[in-house]
Amino acid sequence: MIEKHKTRIGNIIVGDDNDVIVQSMTNTDTGNINASVEQIVELAGAGCQIVRLTCKNIKDAQSLKEIKKSLSEKGIGIPLAADIHFMPKIAEHAALYADKIRINPGNYIDKRKSKSSFSDDEIQSQKNNVKQSLTSLAEICKRNSTSIRIGVNHGSLSERMMFAYGNTAKGMLESALEFIEIFRELNFHDLVISLKASHVPIMIEANRLMYNEFRNRGFVYPIHLGITEAGSGMEARVKSAAGIGSLLAENIGDTIRVSLTEDPVEEIPFAKKLTARYAKRKILPMPHSTENLTDDLELVLNYNNLNEEDLLISTSVDFARLCNIKAYKRLKIFHNGKEQGELADIILQALGIKYSKAEFIACPSCGRTQFDIIEELKKVKEKTSHLKGLKIAVMGCIVNGLGEMAGADFGYVGAGKGKVDIYKQKLLIAKNIDAEDAVDELVKLIGQSGQIQEKEN
Ligand code: SF4
Repeated sequence: MIEKHKTRIGNIIVGDDNDVIVQSMTNTDTGNINASVEQIVELAGAGCQIVRLTCKNIKDAQSLKEIKKSLSEKGIGIPLAADIHFMPKIAEHAALYADKIRINPGNYIDKRKSKSSFSDDEIQSQKNNVKQSLTSLAEICKRNSTSIRIGVNHGSLSERMMFAYGNTAKGMLESALEFIEIFRELNFHDLVISLKASHVPIMIEANRLMYNEFRNRGFVYPIHLGITEAGSGMEARVKSAAGIGSLLAENIGDTIRVSLTEDPVEEIPFAKKLTARYAKRKILPMPHSTENLTDDLELVLNYNNLNEEDLLISTSVDFARLCNIKAYKRLKIFHNGKEQGELADIILQALGIKYSKAEFIACPSCGRTQFDIIEELKKVKEKTSHLKGLKIAVMGCIVNGLGEMAGADFGYVGAGKGKVDIYKQKLLIAKNIDAEDAVDELVKLIGQSGQIQEKEN
């Protein structure tokens, strides 16, 4: 007998047979009440059902109360989630006003000390600290009917978890399970769990592992799906469709966020399309495909009469699902008999199979971003897309650590108001550059590194 938990988030219930819920996040300064309310009104109008806001300090946490009040005066009761990194005290504060708190096990208690090994005593002491802090948070959440998302990111696992499991899907799962088991001991079940990654295959693997592990342990909690740092445009939509859509088609996932480095309102119609097509609360039949008989690792997919976005979604989801059965190396897509080479290349790249141009990871931005990341990403893409094999991370801030940049060759990271730091892998090589000069500086540094020639060969 499996315990199936549903979780109330404000006026919404997620989990079990309930509809899959679409959510997003503001990119305003949470302390700017008017701007945040205005964006939430827009998001709710577009069909967003839960909105998350970053809380980087106590003032942000307190702003949630004002934001909620202002929304309620406008007749908008959308649940608000508070996004917390590093600071248990802020989580405890935000839990008084938010409907849900998101905490990241990778940085909630365990601090980064650049340690690569841990003694048994050190591990036990950190576990005790985690338990103590979660006990306090659970009590506050119980009193205030606030739910908790245990939001694990592949790019910010704690050093303790990396030591035990490596930077792997298993490490992500174990990171979540440690927190889940503590909350279960505390008889706190209003949980949602997410295992997110920017690399689509890792995200899919982690969520499948979790789905199976839940059943082995005899419980199920609602799952939130998302690809982190997916970036913008077609590439981001392909990654999100492949990761989120393929899992929904297997009946994994109870709430989703499509993260785009665009206006957050743009996320909603795409997310709605994924839920409408794949969140049927049953395992959907496998797509039809043709294998090329001359090469058993080439897959051929044929479609007819779809618009551009539906074709992108169908091909991305179908290929991701079929890759779970066989390790395809090549893909051909035909639409109304015409070959779609660019789309096939983007899908192969999104699934880490073949890289045919520069790879971008970019965070969707939030209240911590202090430069115009949407514009900056556009500029970076324009100037570097042709650099095949190069991986560039464009991030609003460094809060989740360098790990979030997921093995990027270069990192372009917000460093303060209108300022950017540039990293070469994990090394800071240019500090506090004015945002208007930073793309040129990046291009110059890439050129100086000799990496272009090396990668283009
Ligand atoms: S990396 Fe981006 S989304 Fe994440 S906290 Fe920083 S600005 Fe916000």
